[in-house]
Amino acid sequence: MSLKGDVSTLSSQRPTSKDAIVNLDRGDPTMYEAFWKSAGADADTFIPGWTSMSYFSDATKLCFYLNAQLTHQIRRLHNLVGNAIAGDDRFIIVGTGSSQLFQASLYALSPPDAAEPMSVVSLAPYYSTYAPMTDLLQSRLHKWAGDASKFAGDRYIEIVCTPNNPDGSIREAVLCSGDGKTIHDLAYYWPQYTAITHAADHDIMLFTLSKITGHAGSRIGWAVVKDREVAKRMMHYITLNSIGVAKEAQLRAEKILQVVSDGYENTPNPDVEMKLFHFGREKLAVRWRKLVEAVQASGIFTVPSFEPAFCNFIGEVTENLPAFAWIKCEKNEVEDLERYLKEKGVIVRGGIQFGMEARYARISMLDRDSTFDLFLERLSAMS
Ligand code: PMP
Repeated sequence: MSLKGDVSTLSSQRPTSKDAIVNLDRGDPTMYEAFWKSAGADADTFIPGWTSMSYFSDATKLCFYLNAQLTHQIRRLHNLVGNAIAGDDRFIIVGTGSSQLFQASLYALSPPDAAEPMSVVSLAPYYSTYAPMTDLLQSRLHKWAGDASKFAGDRYIEIVCTPNNPDGSIREAVLCSGDGKTIHDLAYYWPQYTAITHAADHDIMLFTLSKITGHAGSRIGWAVVKDREVAKRMMHYITLNSIGVAKEAQLRAEKILQVVSDGYENTPNPDVEMKLFHFGREKLAVRWRKLVEAVQASGIFTVPSFEPAFCNFIGEVTENLPAFAWIKCEKNEVEDLERYLKEKGVIVRGGIQFGMEARYARISMLDRDSTFDLFLERLSAMS
């Protein structure tokens, strides 16, 4: 989400006419609305007025506000998809979006008594929100130190986002020091976006409901954490920051995740196909094919290409279908692609915010069909 726009550029507007502004700046996953409409009442949540009132779900647990059913559905989904080790010997911490968990992780991994703030780095192009989130409170604990490939030092927190936002690349940590720490942001390590090649097993892994099912507005994310002390420090942050996470959002998330897993394991209605990851793949495959055709026809833009890989979940070799297109303008006179596209009525996020040149820009692939089609129409007219 853009941190600079006013409310009108942040809101989820639909273009209402052929010459309307097309806003693909945010990764607002409205593409999934069509899937959930077809799910009908099976995916609804009902919350009686007297329930879910306490701060607590289980005061004996480290994550005291976390509903047992949500924990179950999270572990069940990871087990089904095979994308992460998230069994009973791992701590699950739920946050208000994975954004809150990112901040909780930085807090947990930064020693409170160090002489210097911990350097936070990520390989460029990196997700544009890491830098402003790290430095928001100008803390003595941590500071943004930019591109991991340019970092020299032993004490750092490296954020590894894979598949990467904005360019869809598959990544591993680039730094390796005994004192270095990592946070793995696996928001897009799901079968609609990329091949599930192994079950990830890192110290801190962050996931978000928003990019799995499209329910960004529920603000539910979770961290899978190996070490109890790290998990405790993350919980300390969340307790002081928000005393937990809305029970209403948790109830919705557990229902939504249950419908996703049931769609593969326990189809309640065999006449209705409810395979979320297949829905996502089909939509994204069509969009990527059309985008690549438009980009090639333009002769002035390029997008990265990817090696297909065997996906353990789908059971065949699959294409990488990233949630964002990382587009580059090869035309010499266009030095600022964000500005160039804005003049044509398309709002995107420019390369500078990702630690790259302004001739790059990021475009969301997850908007509604009508918005994406209008964008393609406009792109096809550029040369
Ligand atoms: N990490 C990455 C890589 C993202 O793309 C996003 C959302 N754009 C987030 C984290 C934040 O997700 P959430 O909505 O759960 O706060």
